[in-house]
Amino acid sequence: MKQQRPAPEMQPSAAEAKYVYAFSEGDGKNKKLLGGKGANLCEMTQIGLNVPPGFVITTEACLSYLADRDKGLPPGLMHEVRQHMAQLEKATGKGFGSKTNPLLVSVRSGSALSMPGMMDTILNLGLNQATLNGLAAQSSNQRFAWDSYRRFIQLFGKIALGVPDEEFDQHFSAVKKRVGAKDDVHLSATDLKEIANLFLQQIHKHTGRPFPEDPYDQLEIAIKAVFNSWMGKRAVDYRREFKITRAMANGTAVNVVAMVFGNLGDDSATGVAFTRNPATGENDFYGEYLVNAQGEDVVAGIRTPKPVHDMAKEMPEMYRQLEELRSKLETHYREVQDFEFTIENGTLYCLQTRNGKMNAAAKVRTSVEMEREGLITREQALLRIDPELLEQLLYPSIDPTHEGESAAQGIAASPGAACGKIVFDADRAESAGRLGERVILVREETKPEDIHGFFAAQGILTSRGGKTSHAAVVARGMGKPCVAGAEGINVDTRARAAYVGSHVLHEGDTITIDGTTGNVYLGEVPTVEPDFSAELETVLSWADEIARLQVMTNADTPEDSARALKYGAMGIGLCRTERMFNAPDRLPIVVDMILADTPEQRQAALDRLRPIQRADFKEIFKVMSPRPVTVRLLDPPIHEFLPTEQALVDEIAHLRNLRGTVKEMVDLSDTLRLIDPDHRGDTFESLDKLQAILSKLQKSGLDEKLLKQKQSVLRKVRTLHEINPMLGHRGVRLAITYPEIYCMQIQAVLEAAAECIKEGFEIHPEIMVPQVCTAQELKFVHKFVDEIVLEVERTYKVKVPFHFGTMIEVVRACMRAGKLAEYAEFFSFGTNDLSQATFSFSREDAENKFLPLYNKMGILQDNPFEVLDVKGMGRLMEISVQWGRKTRPDLVVGICGEHGGHPESIRFCHHIGLNYVSCSAPRVPIARLSAARAKLLESEYQPY
Ligand code: PEP
Ligand code: MG
Repeated sequence: MKQQRPAPEMQPSAAEAKYVYAFSEGDGKNKKLLGGKGANLCEMTQIGLNVPPGFVITTEACLSYLADRDKGLPPGLMHEVRQHMAQLEKATGKGFGSKTNPLLVSVRSGSALSMPGMMDTILNLGLNQATLNGLAAQSSNQRFAWDSYRRFIQLFGKIALGVPDEEFDQHFSAVKKRVGAKDDVHLSATDLKEIANLFLQQIHKHTGRPFPEDPYDQLEIAIKAVFNSWMGKRAVDYRREFKITRAMANGTAVNVVAMVFGNLGDDSATGVAFTRNPATGENDFYGEYLVNAQGEDVVAGIRTPKPVHDMAKEMPEMYRQLEELRSKLETHYREVQDFEFTIENGTLYCLQTRNGKMNAAAKVRTSVEMEREGLITREQALLRIDPELLEQLLYPSIDPTHEGESAAQGIAASPGAACGKIVFDADRAESAGRLGERVILVREETKPEDIHGFFAAQGILTSRGGKTSHAAVVARGMGKPCVAGAEGINVDTRARAAYVGSHVLHEGDTITIDGTTGNVYLGEVPTVEPDFSAELETVLSWADEIARLQVMTNADTPEDSARALKYGAMGIGLCRTERMFNAPDRLPIVVDMILADTPEQRQAALDRLRPIQRADFKEIFKVMSPRPVTVRLLDPPIHEFLPTEQALVDEIAHLRNLRGTVKEMVDLSDTLRLIDPDHRGDTFESLDKLQAILSKLQKSGLDEKLLKQKQSVLRKVRTLHEINPMLGHRGVRLAITYPEIYCMQIQAVLEAAAECIKEGFEIHPEIMVPQVCTAQELKFVHKFVDEIVLEVERTYKVKVPFHFGTMIEVVRACMRAGKLAEYAEFFSFGTNDLSQATFSFSREDAENKFLPLYNKMGILQDNPFEVLDVKGMGRLMEISVQWGRKTRPDLVVGICGEHGGHPESIRFCHHIGLNYVSCSAPRVPIARLSAARAKLLESEYQPY
């Protein structure tokens, strides 16, 4: 019999918002309003899947509540809730608060974007001392009723009333120990009753109030708690880490759903499944279930669940229905689904579904396979892969030739190998991570509040739980390696030790985990770079067909060039020549060049450098043939190649001291003989030998020579000192003062090109001038190029085709783009420098001193050195492209700053009509996919 409920709520006026939607009426596409979970529950209900009845309270209600929590829930909300509860009572034939046939509900969070485990859920709401008896009668199962009750008290106590887990755990463990129960299932109804009562007392003690008995009070408190969890630390950290903006998800919805029970006996079960394997992408039903259990048992890793395929034997009819559900979900959503189900006394319910989070390999494989199966189009296949995810495919794996035995085996929960020092809790992981240490978070099992530890760790290792445990799901979502349920490892967090057989591992010890195989190794194990899979090649080839932007790479050596080619680079967009100057065989020559007092001396050093540079360029041209290679002439201030002033001052002081020390050492053996004429033995012999060597050094004057040399370098360093080198004597400015340096480089490029051509290679060299601010600078360098190419062509007797262009990394260059294009055949935006110039921020100072605070306070949304500042610098770029192309319609324009490998920035580059982006080798696949997505989504792009 239903209890009579008073209805003290105000009636909402017609003008008041509608905050609540039944699953049968909500718009399944409106995730912003209903949250992902709520929208999907509506959609599933409406396409006829068996979803327990329920309703959604909107994110608008959440925001309205959070705007002024003191005012309580928005007016009219609880009235609407009561009306919908009445409908639920009708649909289930049960009564909320009924002593004989109680309706229990779950209260679940769910925002527009899935944030697994970040917000709160309360189950079995509606239980109290009275309805408990009804539940026992309804289920004819005392134990089940008490178990449900104690679960509810615990969850409600923790989430809604803020009582820490440990306060419940201590009572739970004490009773378990006293009655000798190994597992929770071994606890009797009487034990569970005792536990429930202890929990109630604990809550009273902690909060100073009795546990709320009235189901509607419980419901109201629970709704508020779920709303509050949107602003909880976990959720806020998660949104910050994954850059979830308000535009993407704002507030959480609350889903109130009639409870169904998977723990009503052996014809009941609960499970979590993916329509395809989320670790590999294989089209194989993947999941786990537990008979006679509630959902949280599967996720929390308390009992080890069985693979879903086992159900085919254990519950054949249920398995058939589950397969049918799997297929309906995928066909409807055209996406891999991650869903939860419960079987209550032989009836299958789908409790929720969402797009499956997968690692990159699985995402790529499913994209290719679903396209082949005709489930999605090629465009959809590209759009469902987040480009940043591809970075995971470049993660190392354990070197296959490694022969060492693994110390323990767990479940391969998230692929990739990781090595680091053991930490046993998330806080330590975070503080060690901040110091730049590589750590592996080792836990018995993880919980949502460990999330900051996941961010900081290289990998996660747990000793309990399966493939759908919290650790596994979160690590997979982040693309971090994870080994779960390594039962051979005994983790004792309090003792800060883990026991593997006879081994004791302490915090700080190094281990390696392999999330691809589940192996755990002691110490550091060698890893190897991964190979591109055939599926990834396929996806990227589709991307290349669609993209308009070309993807080049920034590479300075033949090795880097070859690696970038493997990743699909279509040429080199930036070869920084100064990196070649730093190699140990060249640096002394470069130093000679800098120290030269006359142009002749400088030329002599440059003549030694030219063949070396020529050989470098030649090798790179050959590796990249027939693709373009853009060589940037020397950029940094030349004092960067000299030692620092401090180092020289120290060395000079040391040399001066040495002279005194040598003199005293030379006299040492005579002095000792004077003191002790009778002493003989090895000491004197050694001293005599040393004395001979030191006298020779004294006479040679080598130390004196070195001292003079160091003093001369110090003088030069002091002469070259700049107050602000970033804005100083660098780039093309060097060419104006030391033209012979650029002439040497230009000659080396053109000679290398001529030699390649003679050897039959098709090559496309491009010469690029950095730091240009006026066309006169370009004109000056262009004149040398004109002269040198004639000379080279005469010498080698071949035509040397090349292009001449400029970097755009100075604000004035943007404003004079039209004029620069008279000399430049191409522009390349050096957005590293241009960002500094646009903001007048020095990158290092900004990032170390104030930028994090700017970001935290929301003064700047992003770090402009990572994410292209579309609204400011973007305008400059757009104007430059337009003005440049006005002068030279076929002007080729690219970008070679770090932004060239960032997906959102690439989108903007596509929008303003660049021809290419250039980025480091590992970003090339990301850029290729981003370029295609930019094209596919161009009509909906609004940058400003
Ligand atoms: C740039 O400024 O964006 C650039 C590519 O040059 P560098 O980073 O070498 O200064
Ligand atoms: Mg630059």
